[in-house]
Amino acid sequence: MIKMKTFELNEKIRNLSPYEPVTGECSIRLDANESCFDLPEEIKMKIAAEIQNVQFNRYPDPNAKDLCNAFANYYNISPELVTAGNGSDELISIIINAFLMKGDKIVITQPDFSMYRFYSEISEVVCVNINKSSELSIKIDNLIEVVKSEDARAVIFSNPCNPTSRGLKAEDVVTLINSVDALVVLDEAYMDFWDESLLDTVEEFDNLIILRTASKAAGMAALRLGFAIANPKLTRVIRSVKSPYNVNTLSQVAGTVVFNEREYLEKCKRTILSSKKALYNDLVSLARKNKNKIIPIEGVSNFVLLKTSLAKVIYAFLQNNGISVKLMDDYLRISAGTQHENKVLINALKEFFK
Ligand SMILES: *Cc1c(COP(=O)(O)O)cnc(C)c1O
Repeated sequence: MIKMKTFELNEKIRNLSPYEPVTGECSIRLDANESCFDLPEEIKMKIAAEIQNVQFNRYPDPNAKDLCNAFANYYNISPELVTAGNGSDELISIIINAFLMKGDKIVITQPDFSMYRFYSEISEVVCVNINKSSELSIKIDNLIEVVKSEDARAVIFSNPCNPTSRGLKAEDVVTLINSVDALVVLDEAYMDFWDESLLDTVEEFDNLIILRTASKAAGMAALRLGFAIANPKLTRVIRSVKSPYNVNTLSQVAGTVVFNEREYLEKCKRTILSSKKALYNDLVSLARKNKNKIIPIEGVSNFVLLKTSLAKVIYAFLQNNGISVKLMDDYLRISAGTQHENKVLINALKEFFK
């Protein structure tokens, strides 16, 4: 008789905690920091027209040239510095695999975007954690010291930070980049909502890679488009390690159309920011009326963080009312929604505190 073998997961990922996106039937989705605006009909029609010309039997352009040009043009940088990815998620994985080896150290601050740890662990890279202060900020001197003393190969963090919504000034990030030999991976997923980007200066550094995404301010989460921006030398490495056809043609075409819609994108950004402000103000007045059982943190991105020991019960209450937010220990992360969505949320919270 043939003995049946049990197929098992390899050792390195046995303890991996999977990313668990919020699923289910919530009609108000404020859990993933997406833009609250779908593309308008008129832009969708332009995309549809472009898609008519796609040759579906052919592989995509491996360099996503038109897309990178449109992205670079929108941000006023050189397309030679840009690599497109299947979401910035893919680029995080590519960068870790391209620049670090098994056992190398990467410095991660906590809390931060969970994918940094996820891809590091899959690649058997050692995560060195730095806990943020109680005000959830990064102490740059401390970060530099840890990168040096641990002899880390890389440091990765989001600025503005998901989930804290706090931001580091560009000059502090420059101090970090200049003080370490390690590769600095600066995830600017939310920088469209703030003004401390290093995109303009990326070429001046030999150890900086900036990540950008089309999933947040640009409102294209469905397409899975991310970008790595770095000097030509680093860009050559990233391009040579990525899988050749990583960004499908339909996403390339749609992304190209949308990044050429400057006015539309700028308008969305402004509207989302004022929606965030309104949401924050409503939460502040709700907090005042309820003995500060919730503490709203405004931050510099498109979401508000709520600190509250009631996080779990509020989360469940909202879920039961068809509203999804992100729960993290004693915090709730709430993305800015449309006026209507914000109102439904605030009304539900009023109901909760009644
Ligand atoms: C949402 C988010 C991303 C975006 O990832 P994509 O794969 O491009 O959708 C990257 N970094 C951070 C910190 C994020 O919050």
